[in-house]
Formats: sequence, structure tokens, C-alpha cells
Amino acid sequence: MIVISFSNVRTNIPGPKSEKILNDWHKYEADKTGYQARVAIERGSGAMLYDVDGNAFIDWTSGVLVANLGHSPEALVNAIEQAGRNMLNVYEYCTSYRVDAAKALVEAAPDHLDRCFFLTTGSEAVDSAIRIMKRYSGGFEIISFYGSFHGRTLSTASIGGLHKFKRGFGPMLPGAIRVPFPYCYRCPFKSKLETCNLMCLEFLDDVVQANSTDSLAGVVAEPYLGTAGFIFPPKGYMPELEKWIRSKGLIYTLDEVQSSYGRTGEMWALSHEGLTPDIVAVGKGIGSGVSVSAILMRAEVVDKAVSVGELGSTYGGNPLSCAAVSTVLEIMEREKIIDNVNSVSQIFAQRLPSFVEINEHVGDVRGMGLVWGIEFVEDKESKTPAPALVKQLIDLCARKGLLIGGVGMFGNVVRVAPPLVINEAQAHESLDIMYDCIKQLK
Ligand code: PMP
Repeated sequence: MIVISFSNVRTNIPGPKSEKILNDWHKYEADKTGYQARVAIERGSGAMLYDVDGNAFIDWTSGVLVANLGHSPEALVNAIEQAGRNMLNVYEYCTSYRVDAAKALVEAAPDHLDRCFFLTTGSEAVDSAIRIMKRYSGGFEIISFYGSFHGRTLSTASIGGLHKFKRGFGPMLPGAIRVPFPYCYRCPFKSKLETCNLMCLEFLDDVVQANSTDSLAGVVAEPYLGTAGFIFPPKGYMPELEKWIRSKGLIYTLDEVQSSYGRTGEMWALSHEGLTPDIVAVGKGIGSGVSVSAILMRAEVVDKAVSVGELGSTYGGNPLSCAAVSTVLEIMEREKIIDNVNSVSQIFAQRLPSFVEINEHVGDVRGMGLVWGIEFVEDKESKTPAPALVKQLIDLCARKGLLIGGVGMFGNVVRVAPPLVINEAQAHESLDIMYDCIKQLK
């Protein structure tokens, strides 16, 4: 039986200290980030965040974005402190931190990928992948997906499929060809999964026929659409897509910036269906809060595409971030983080799908491992996106001790992405809070 405890209901949100800090923030920094609860965070530990007024929150937001291993794990903090005391950065010269990190990453990588290169952000990783794809293939057209998100730089926004990252920035990079992603809750073909026979895959040839100048470089895909609202393709889609890519002789980048490092219950999301992309972009979880990203690929690909002096980045491979890369992998192994994902995620998998029955507003619940999306609509019949309800929920949940964020192409999806170290009690308590708050939605 689930005991719903509301003993920890908070009313002082925003507290006086948070209020002051938030006012100062908006005075000095152009905060254009997403809608958040009005709290200023002071510190974090494990799956918890604490604000400057002494309120404690279970964190459903940072997991997928930064703090995979929870907030400030001691071993990670010690490792970067020690690296920083030795040296903060050197330019391009080799350090043992960099070599250790590269070895650890390649050893943890899917078997067919034997080289990595370090960068700083997820966007930079995908941007580098795009450049390698073009050089390798000699083509310039990149096929990507409606709703996909690969970053905010010009190249990554150009291939992305989310309007708000492109609006008013045109013309974008030439050669971006987008195809519909199987967002089955809102099928672009108004079809039903039971009978559609994955017709969206057949459509790929039509799109190429209509758009390509016969200068295709390759395909960039996410294993599931993250920023678009945690949209998972039906089983079988990704392997079929890969078959199609191979049949056309294209090079293939899988953007695992948010899906890797145990988030889905496997180290790599590609393992669920045995995918073998040529390049994998990695970010977020690789540093678990420390800014680092990487691309993984085969030596043959990078050696053919790029010459010495053509791939680099001031902060890529710096000692701090490389110490983080090695230590994150050690912690994952030592603390059996993926085992924790696979056991605690069962609680989410058992309880979350039934949330669609709470009321008219819960349109869809989908996910796996510790990455789930709850999509809110005005009513189940019309499926009209209801982003205002997500904003209400953000405030309601914060008052009860749960920090959540909104995501999605319509801003109407709650992101359920706790740090991978969340324990069973925290899983239940956070789900209780969410359940109760959804019930309050009018
Ligand atoms: N790719 C994916 C799949 C992402 O989710 C993100 C960030 N949300 C990025 C790329 C870009 O990463 P960054 O913000 O570190 O540039």
C-alpha cells in the first residue's frame, strides 16, 4: 500500500533569501532559461537539493542534465580538486589525466568504437560529429528528425527539429533534411502503431527523393527525443532505421548526450537494440556535473576525415574534466550505479503509467530506466497541449518538496529524470508528491 505523506508540505516558497537572490539574478543576468520554481539552490547531496532558505527537495530535474551520480559525490569533488591543484589547463599538450580518461572512456564504449575526442559541451560534440561526417563522406546533407535537439550552436540548431531554437535565425546551415520521428502519441501520419507497419520508415526514401541534391553525408539521431519531451520510438524502429542508413551507405551519428551513462538502464541506450552507429556524441553524464563532452568513433573514420591540427578546443581534455571522466566511470563501477537504476526504475515503471488515469489532463506517460515524460493535455480527446498545467505543477510540487522541470516541443511535458542514485524511499515519496499535485490540477 502506498502511504502518501504530506508532513513535509512547505509554504515558504519562495523564502525571503531565495526571493532576494532571484531578484538580483534577474537584475544582472538575462535569465532566459525555462520556467522554474522560485527557489535559489544553495547545495545538493545525492538526489536532494537544498535552497538558501533551508528547504529540502527531491530533484527530478538535474539527473538527465548534469548530476547523474547525484550532487557533488565526494570522490568526484576530490578528484577534480586534486587535478586542479596540479594544473588547471594546458593547451593541447598531453597530460596523464587526458590519457587515463581517454582509455577509461574507450574501454567503457561500445566495442566497435575505438577512439574518442574530448570537447566541452554536448553541442560542441555534435558539431564536431557533423564536421567529421561531412569530411568522411564528401557530402554535406545531414538527415535528422522533427523534434530533435542537438544543441544551440548554428550547425546543431540547423539540423535540430525544434522551432524555438531556429525562429528568426535563418537562413540556417544548408543541407539539413528533416524527417518525421515516430512520436506515436501524436503520429505525424495520424496512424496507429498496431497497424502502421512503421510507415514513417518508408517515408524516408520519399524525403530523400524530394530534398536531396545527391550529396548526403549521413544521419544524426537521438535514441529518444529528449528535449522534445522524452519521446521513445517504438521497439524495432531504431534497428530498421540503421538498416536503411547502411543500405544507402551513409555515416551515422547517434547523439547520446543525455541518454548514455546508465540513464536508460544500460550504459549506452544503443545497447537495448544492438545499434552500431559510426559516431556517438556523449555529454552530461560523462562528467556528472563537470563540463565535458566527447565523441566516440572508429579510428578509421576520424583518421580519414580530420588531419592533425583540425580538431581541438581550448577546454577540451583539460585536467579537471578528464579527472572527472575517469572518476565518474570508477564511481559507476564501484557503486553499481546501473544496478540501482534497474532496481529503482521498477518503482517508476510500476507507478507512473497508471498516472494517466488520475485525470483528463494526463495524456501520455512514457519512458524507461530513469527517464520518463508525463505529457499534459487539456483533455484526452483533443490532446491539446497544456503547458500552463506544467507551470502550475512546478510550483505545486516545489511546495511539497519536489523540484521538476518542463520540457517538450509544446512545453507540456514533465521531465522525470532524477539522479541515478535516487533510492527507493525517495522514489516513492517523489511519486506520491507528483500524484497528489496532478490530482489538484483543475
Ligand atoms: N544533444 C542532446 C540530445 C541534448 O539533450 C543536449 C542538451 N540538452 C545537447 C545535445 C546539447 O548539449 P549542451 O547543452 O551541453 O550543449
